[in-house]
Amino acid sequence: MTHVVCEPCNNCKYTDCVAVCPVECFHEDEFILYIDPDECIDCGLCIPECPVEAIFADSDVPEKWEHYTELNAEKAPDLPVITEQKDPLPTAPPK
Ligand code: SF4
Ligand code: SF4
Repeated sequence: MTHVVCEPCNNCKYTDCVAVCPVECFHEDEFILYIDPDECIDCGLCIPECPVEAIFADSDVPEKWEHYTELNAEKAPDLPVITEQKDPLPTAPPK
């Protein structure tokens, strides 16, 4: 099992989730975060932290965002780790 960042994080990147992750498994590109499934310990701490409900346990990913499970696994390992909360993108919706 792992946890998956889905579509609502796109163009948003509030990074509340990063601040609570005990194992530093969030990675970022310009627009969105990804969780590395090989590092995630399934603690679930990040789920309630995300103000736009972008994170799901892989067993709970909505059907319309199913492809994000593979996308997170593919993208995360090659992108830089993000370990500290920072300002969201200007395009982020209000909390
Ligand atoms: S808190 Fe949610 S929207 Fe913000 S970076 Fe994390 S997953 Fe993305
Ligand atoms: S479930 Fe836990 S280990 Fe996995 S990304 Fe969220 S906070 Fe990190």
